[in-house]
Amino acid sequence: MVIDKKNNKISNGVKNKKTYYIITIGCQMNKSDSERVAAYLEKYGFSLARNETKADLVVLTTCGVRQAAEDRVYGLVGEIKRKNPKAKIVLTGCLSERKDVKKRLGDKVDVWLPISQILNFKFQILKKIRNPKSEIRNCDYLKIKPKYSSKFSAFLAIGNGCNNFCAYCVVPYARGREVYRPAKEILAEAKNLIKNGYREVILIAQNVNSYKDGKINFSKLLKIVNNIPGDFWIRFATSHPKDMSNELIKTMTNCGRVCKHIHLPVQAGNDKVLKAMNRNYTVAHYKNLIKNIRQAMPEASITTDVIVGFPGETKKQFSNTAKLFRKIKFDMAYIARYSPRPGTAAYKLKDDVAPEEKKRREEELMKILRKTALENNEKYLGKTIEVLISGKNKRGEWYGYTGTNKNVKIRITNYELRITNLTGKFVKVKITKVRDFGLEGTIV
Ligand code: SF4
Repeated sequence: MVIDKKNNKISNGVKNKKTYYIITIGCQMNKSDSERVAAYLEKYGFSLARNETKADLVVLTTCGVRQAAEDRVYGLVGEIKRKNPKAKIVLTGCLSERKDVKKRLGDKVDVWLPISQILNFKFQILKKIRNPKSEIRNCDYLKIKPKYSSKFSAFLAIGNGCNNFCAYCVVPYARGREVYRPAKEILAEAKNLIKNGYREVILIAQNVNSYKDGKINFSKLLKIVNNIPGDFWIRFATSHPKDMSNELIKTMTNCGRVCKHIHLPVQAGNDKVLKAMNRNYTVAHYKNLIKNIRQAMPEASITTDVIVGFPGETKKQFSNTAKLFRKIKFDMAYIARYSPRPGTAAYKLKDDVAPEEKKRREEELMKILRKTALENNEKYLGKTIEVLISGKNKRGEWYGYTGTNKNVKIRITNYELRITNLTGKFVKVKITKVRDFGLEGTIV
């Protein structure tokens, strides 16, 4: 790395630019992390390669929430080494601090960048790759202006880390304890996005409900962002049922720009299992929250995460989850078969639900979900709703999503609209057809 003090510029010190490529696995926070890593690398002279086989530096932002995500990382590292042996591999994200992963991948990975240290972003990458004697600069990770991957919808990280230690989850170990950005900084980023034409701001943190900056809690923060003038939507994720307040429900109801979609992970529909998971709420509490949400916002869509086959989960206990699914009528659910994650509290428990039984439970929930999601979508038939267009498919049909997070495919007969670029635009769509996980309609 070369520091040109006269021009106040820092480069990677090579005439021909080095290139990078980032592969992101996992959640919205990981995507947001990758956008920051991209911005940082570009600031220091790297440019984006076409793909991982053409890059000098390949960053893997990893996820350790499920075994399948972890296996994908092993596969990717092997593939990159085979196809692009000269590339340096940087591994960040949830797997970057796992000793067994380090042992397994050994020197195939050049730099391990723990996400819990990323707040104090000692840029080992440049140090290791360009010049071992180069100066290392610290920077506040959340202050890095991300290289947003979309031109109309942006993740805006309001914090990082988690204090909750759910028994199955690696996040508190991988990301450390909760830290939140000052409201002033969040507001400035949101204003800047809207000024630049962004139509959607997604406030993200592991547990948005715990947001705190002095007297500003998450509800107040939502109001502040909602007051920015402009034509845009606000979304947020993720909420924790133990922390979601009636104040927040009221704020969502009253803030016109806040989308009426709530992702509220339930994880299980039985109190004993919830306790074993260390979730700190009961099924009754969850149901009550949903009742309050539906009373305040009857149009709201509700989505969830659930784990089937947690250690010790009996058939009877699982049947309570199925019952809860029938009762709540979720619009969407991310159903995961439990897999033990090293380092977590549940790792010490016997993974005693057979794989076939986990599969059966997953399928049972999926069947209920398809039915309830379709019933919910039927309410949209014949209605005209606002859709944010996100792209065009190979058949030339535009697609997008509603404020309630329903995917919408749009049939266009008008030639003019067919050739106009609608990406990132709000359009009114009349719904003519519904499926379990999507709607179809025409622009009016
Ligand atoms: S709330 Fe629980 S599941 Fe969510 S990130 Fe924190 S520990 Fe993991």
